[in-house]
Amino acid sequence: MAFDPLDVAVLCCLVASVVLYSKKDKIISFLRGSEALDPLIGVSSNGSKDLLEIIEANKKDFLILYGSQTGTAEDYCKKFAKELHSRFKELHILCGDFDNFDFEDPNTLGNLVGKVKCLVIFMSTYGEGELPDPCANFDDYLNNVLESDELKNLPIMIFGLGNSTYEFFNGAAMKLKEKLVDEAGAKLIGQIGAADDSIGNTEEEYVSWKDAAFELIEQEFNLKGGENLLFEPMYEYINYNGADTKVFKGELNKNYLSAEKDKKHIGPFDQSYPFLAEVSESKELCNPVSGRNCVHVEFDISSSNIKYETGDHLGVIPQNAQEHVSNFLQTLNLNADEVFDLHLKDPTSTLPFPVPTNIETAVTNYLEITGPVSRQTISQIVQFIPESEESIRQRLVEISSSAETFHKEIIEAHLNFADCLQYVSSTFNWGQYIPWTFLLETIPSLKPRFYSISSSNLYDNNKIHITAMVEVTDADKLVGGVTTNLLNEINKGSNSKSLPLHYNLSGPRGLYKAESYKLPIFVRKSTFKLPDNADTPVIMIGPGTGVAPFRGFVRDRLVENSDSEMILFYGSRNIDDHLYKEEWESQYNGLSNLKVFNAYSRDPSMPKTYVQKLMLDQKDLIMNALKKGAFVYVCGDAGTMAKQVNDTLISIVSDKQEISVEDAHEMIKFMKLNGRYHEDVW
Ligand code: FAD
Repeated sequence: MAFDPLDVAVLCCLVASVVLYSKKDKIISFLRGSEALDPLIGVSSNGSKDLLEIIEANKKDFLILYGSQTGTAEDYCKKFAKELHSRFKELHILCGDFDNFDFEDPNTLGNLVGKVKCLVIFMSTYGEGELPDPCANFDDYLNNVLESDELKNLPIMIFGLGNSTYEFFNGAAMKLKEKLVDEAGAKLIGQIGAADDSIGNTEEEYVSWKDAAFELIEQEFNLKGGENLLFEPMYEYINYNGADTKVFKGELNKNYLSAEKDKKHIGPFDQSYPFLAEVSESKELCNPVSGRNCVHVEFDISSSNIKYETGDHLGVIPQNAQEHVSNFLQTLNLNADEVFDLHLKDPTSTLPFPVPTNIETAVTNYLEITGPVSRQTISQIVQFIPESEESIRQRLVEISSSAETFHKEIIEAHLNFADCLQYVSSTFNWGQYIPWTFLLETIPSLKPRFYSISSSNLYDNNKIHITAMVEVTDADKLVGGVTTNLLNEINKGSNSKSLPLHYNLSGPRGLYKAESYKLPIFVRKSTFKLPDNADTPVIMIGPGTGVAPFRGFVRDRLVENSDSEMILFYGSRNIDDHLYKEEWESQYNGLSNLKVFNAYSRDPSMPKTYVQKLMLDQKDLIMNALKKGAFVYVCGDAGTMAKQVNDTLISIVSDKQEISVEDAHEMIKFMKLNGRYHEDVW
């Protein structure tokens, strides 16, 4: 058979694309420059992504893997690996991200049978029961490559992190069971851990699952469990005396280390290599009388090659407020300027943050020093307190040994780590006993926060907008959200002196100071997308900042000149925190196909109204749209709203179609499975 030149050209392009795709990680490193291969990449930094090769080369016999969307599963996984190591010294543990390994070889997991004692997986669930983004290759392997009985008798343990307000609670962990255990024959040891973020039980669920897991591991593999759970540093701590230009001062990547301010960064940009985007505009969306702040922020991405689609998420990498940093440094009597380096003791482990750096930088930029403190961390501190300080030891044991006491005294009082120590004793010299190495290994890493993009890639050329409600917990304004208070300070600019929290807005070595300010950002793809067919009607339910992506959707359809039906249910407390009120009333009022229904829950002149009530009032409109093939989108509070909206839709369908609630439930579930019902809730 003869090929014509066009066939050959197409074939060559196809082969080239396959080769390029298979080498994409190396190409990305090349594009970013070899400096991007910093030790944070850990196990992949030696170039190999072959799981078996790494296990054999490093003489490992116990594998612990994590799939993490926001970093929580990663934190728990690493904590588990560390504790397991201190408890059972004879285990040789390899701990890593699914993303660190290739799953192209059909036997990637089958090869492990007989080579590792056990595979433990920490897996978070994302979206409609899906595996997190970094597990895309592993997911493909599970769906298409893994053969039945391939893992016959491979011992496996699973800890899932999920949120029960979603239909497919811990769906990713359940999928692991179905594929690895039920189909491929692995032997499940113990129960599957099922942390539920909606009731904030992740820490307690982890502790009880882990305690049971350790006992099972001890029995199953006939190990001698050491009672000694004393802290053992994973890294060699070295005082650094080298050049200052090599010291990280908050830069997140080597590409930004001592970078000339105007250096062109070409990406591709992601969490490990974020784009420093200028905040080109920002404004307050709430009236002062509302007592709330909601900031609209616009990032200029014109000098990047970032592409996003309406409905995607923006990751913002924050820093801690100076007030929180000094509280932490003072409580622990730390020397802010001490410069240190860390060397890995085990080449398969990873560094917690870029080094060399100084203590103040690490506390400001890399550690999650606010937020509720972990009971386990407080209980671990007892080991550092000498017996001569019996009352302090006793107090630490007292608050940390019972979940109820800890909740009542520490969690309900909104104490963070440093606050908790001060609560135990404000005069005790904590810094004399608690080593900095323990803190840097135990305090979780500071994670990016995600925001539903509120702009449209079609309408808002080269701009990404977000809509962030400034988080303040309790009357004590020092208990505030890290990122939203940072955005608030940027918005307030020179009027920020009166704010409770302040940040180093200039960033490391003045890197973030521009016409306005810059922040490190990256785009995360989402499946929260308008239907491909612009004629399909949409029903959007987004109270509060849940309205963010719908602003983008409407702007998209404005550009597309689509006249298909758009129904929006929006809710706020009252007129004073009605987000983008003028915009809805003026900018989009030419759209005869857009119907907006507003619910106010705290307006004294009318009864409390939530979006669910408005939906019931509009049941005919909703049902007609559904019959015309409408897609449903729900965005915002995962606590109660998403569940109640789901139940409201079920009752509308049941009522209008005259079918049972169970059948209506199945219909809504079917819509979710078929991509006609999307939730983007947090
Ligand atoms: P954090 O520092 O993360 O704190 C969270 C909360 O804990 C705050 O209320 C804070 O006051 C409180 N807190 C702090 N310390 C303590 C303590 N010791 N004890 C008890 N509580 C404490 N948010 C939006 O506003 N708009 C959006 O469009 C949006 N979209 C999102 C999309 C996705 C996919 C996800 C996952 C989340 C989204 N969020 C959105 C939520 C957002 O990511 C952040 O969680 C939110 O802005 C708070 O971030 P923060 O850093 O300010 O607060």
